[in-house]
Amino acid sequence: MNTEELLQILACPKCLGRLEAVPGAGTGQTDGFSCAACAVIYPVRDDIPVMLIEEAIPRQEWDQGKR
Ligand SMILES: [Zn+2]
Repeated sequence: MNTEELLQILACPKCLGRLEAVPGAGTGQTDGFSCAACAVIYPVRDDIPVMLIEEAIPRQEWDQGKR
């Protein structure tokens, strides 16, 4: 399943809003899915999007390199 397909079916588990793919630096892969309303990013680990509120990474920490 590619990123576009995932974006069609995934929603933020917190607000049920739309997500945006966050591209990885230089990898061409999707590193995570971002919810602008909640200012969090749901990480992709081992190619699996982790859509759990408790695993969501605040955007500020994500920008500091947390994954
Ligand atoms: Zn949200």
